[in-house]
Amino acid sequence: MSLRFYDTRARTVRDFTPLNEGCVSLYLCGATVQAPPHIGHIRSGVNFDILRRWLTHKGYSVTFCRNVTDIDDKIINVAKAEDVAWWAVSERNQRAFTRAYDILGCLPPTVEPRATGHVPEMVALMRRLIERGHAYAAGDGSGDVYFDVRSFPDYGVLSNQRIDQMRGAADTDGDRDKRDPRDFALWKGARPGEPSWETPWGPGRPGWHLECSAMATRYLGAAFDIHGGGLDLVFPHHENEMAQSNAAGDDFARYWLHNGLLTMGGEKMSKSLGNSLLIPEMVRRVRPVELRYYLGQAHYRSVIDYSEEALREAAAAYQRIEGFLTRTVEVAGPVEPADRVPAEFASALDDDLGVSQGLAVVHGHVREGNSALAEGGKERAAELAAQLRAMLDVLGVDPLSAQWSGGEATGLRDVVDALVSVALEQRQAARARKDYAAADEIRDRLGAAGIMVEDTPRGPRWELKRD
Ligand SMILES: [Zn+2]
Repeated sequence: MSLRFYDTRARTVRDFTPLNEGCVSLYLCGATVQAPPHIGHIRSGVNFDILRRWLTHKGYSVTFCRNVTDIDDKIINVAKAEDVAWWAVSERNQRAFTRAYDILGCLPPTVEPRATGHVPEMVALMRRLIERGHAYAAGDGSGDVYFDVRSFPDYGVLSNQRIDQMRGAADTDGDRDKRDPRDFALWKGARPGEPSWETPWGPGRPGWHLECSAMATRYLGAAFDIHGGGLDLVFPHHENEMAQSNAAGDDFARYWLHNGLLTMGGEKMSKSLGNSLLIPEMVRRVRPVELRYYLGQAHYRSVIDYSEEALREAAAAYQRIEGFLTRTVEVAGPVEPADRVPAEFASALDDDLGVSQGLAVVHGHVREGNSALAEGGKERAAELAAQLRAMLDVLGVDPLSAQWSGGEATGLRDVVDALVSVALEQRQAARARKDYAAADEIRDRLGAAGIMVEDTPRGPRWELKRD
């Protein structure tokens, strides 16, 4: 099967052909950095990281641009409430987002532009729109610049709406001097005490939609392959991006991909609910790789309704995969990832990134591998483990990868392993002389230090305790 994706604009699955052979350009709407991320924000990062890894596995050279919206009404409001500079709020939360992406193993983007670093590109885009009759400066001297939605017949095509049925753009205080209430602000005239940049139409700051059009074309060109984001961005954000860029004469995105939302009790996450699901909180409940597995396992277009129980189940499923790989390495020695993933896994991912079908292949391999181990077939187990590692690498959850096996901490783990071995030998010696009280005390003291000992037919094994 050839690679295909559900394209929001076409409202159907389309075969994917990149603009330039062998290369894929991908733009993803990143964070508006007014608060630290909860798992709802990061789901999109995980979904598109899997897409990028799959494209890379297929041999494409991927240019991945994910922006940061570092100026916005919400950021300004937080700064006012805390009595700090707006840029201090942006910086702090951008760092929190970067940490969260890193913790969950999302590969860094090729480029991560910030809106405030691209004002000249935005001014140039507004000038083109005004010259072509698709935008106008407000006549009230406010410094606002609006997009004229009636001037662009395709307005509404992405979100499948007719202009007359749309609500007005709620991006200014009232309708100011708009020709139509649905005209949206490309640029917002300066208000007292707020940050502003100079333009030919007066000082002000960028509207959110204009930022993404300017940054996407700055790094990926006037036409590029895939534009991604959460389903809640289709309207107005992406509709407006598309309208601005197409009206200015740019082909812009060729495929529009949207991930489903993460809800709680069936409702979109509010700030108060979201606080308990901040990334640092979540990785106290499960390991980061288990959280990633949880967020990535469902189809990217489906809704995830968060529950603690589903999170635990995902962690347990991941531990079954991990357990098989650990046991295989114990009996068969180190296993390298296979060069290619199994054909069944490949066709699942080619079909609009069918990760859940792909995971069925993963778990099939784990079951077959466990049977092979039970029957002493360590070569077969090692072969399955190699294929498994290749598939898990695409999903970004290979337990034996540098990211998840401890990487730089491996050296320290060897030291701990040597120390624990000394204690375990003493425990074996105590058992041999039937001094069970001494043997139990050694186990308890290791437990108090956070080391869990499990007795297996091949001798004791240890691992770090998780709370
Ligand atoms: Zn955007």
